[in-house]
Amino acid sequence: MTTEDPPSKTKLDPFGTTLIEDYDRLYQEFGIQPFKPLLPEMPDPSAAMRRGVIFGHRDFERVLSAMKNHEEFAVMSGIKPTGEFHLGTLQTAREVIYFQQHGGTAFYCIADVEAYEDNGIPFERSQKYAVGNVADLLALGFNLKKGYIYRQSKEERVKDLALTFGRGLTLATMKAIYGERHMGLYLSALIQAGDILMPQLKDFGGPKPTVVPVGIDQDPHLRLTRDVAFKFRSKYKFIPPSSTYHKLIKALDGSPKMSKRSPMSYFTLEETPSAIAKKISNAFTGGRPTAEEQRRLGANPDICPIYDLYLFHFFESDADVVKLYNEECKCGKILCGEDKQRLKKIVTEFVKEHQRKRRQYIDKAREILEVE
Ligand code: SF4
Repeated sequence: MTTEDPPSKTKLDPFGTTLIEDYDRLYQEFGIQPFKPLLPEMPDPSAAMRRGVIFGHRDFERVLSAMKNHEEFAVMSGIKPTGEFHLGTLQTAREVIYFQQHGGTAFYCIADVEAYEDNGIPFERSQKYAVGNVADLLALGFNLKKGYIYRQSKEERVKDLALTFGRGLTLATMKAIYGERHMGLYLSALIQAGDILMPQLKDFGGPKPTVVPVGIDQDPHLRLTRDVAFKFRSKYKFIPPSSTYHKLIKALDGSPKMSKRSPMSYFTLEETPSAIAKKISNAFTGGRPTAEEQRRLGANPDICPIYDLYLFHFFESDADVVKLYNEECKCGKILCGEDKQRLKKIVTEFVKEHQRKRRQYIDKAREILEVE
């Protein structure tokens, strides 16, 4: 950034609105490191890594080193059980499973305390969503033999850590990271610090590199937890957690982030294929006003949520993504209607198969979460 650059409007707020004008500026303004230079060293990079969906990290080198040397490491992330799995939570789940499949012990938290403090959802209601969320995770391939799934409100180790961490933090620190918030949100941030550092307790084999794959809006939690790990290093020997950051998939209405307040801006994996197809049909695109103009001038995939759906989730091959971007969309070879038709077919097949698998894991999910 130079002195001539206009002030950034970028705002990362896990409890509110996240605004990102330019991902490149996150490197200078927030001290996030670009992921791309590490790509050649990754033993088997995921599609999200190869395609730049995962664009940044903090201290990921130490996890990379553990992966390359077949040493112990953990991966930790989770979900706020406020609804069914959507494309954002799908992204995080896939990243957790990727690191698990590449040697990490996986920890997946059902953040029901945060669902209460941030969204006012009582535990009895969030546990219903939690069962579905865990069934989704298992259907996607989470391996219980190398993983631990738990509810924040029931995990005493996490609560004990949060209580301990409270002594090391002042209100000024919490305000500097999260802004002026009610105490419940500060409390849930402390609990999240407990979640992220729990894999390093003796019960789980002691200190180890830990990667937290999250959307960029969650970075404030990482900053807080790294600070906590430093403050309590003499007591617990914590290794500061590492993180990877993925971009936020555009909403179907073209806005930068999907919102539960606007049901047409996203779909969940539990909706019927026909409801999802309807949302895709109505989605915003980067197309031109007329077919003639689009054929002549091409369209704009950079502002298009349909392109994002292919890029983030629904094209298996990188070559197909490049072809859509350069040869089909930008050159006007394909019209948005045709492109949506193709996507609907792929999404319908995926959702049908996912829902079939998910049904088989509901009882297991109830058992894990101890829900009647
Ligand atoms: S052709 Fe496809 S990717 Fe391009 S703007 Fe239209 S819908 Fe989006």
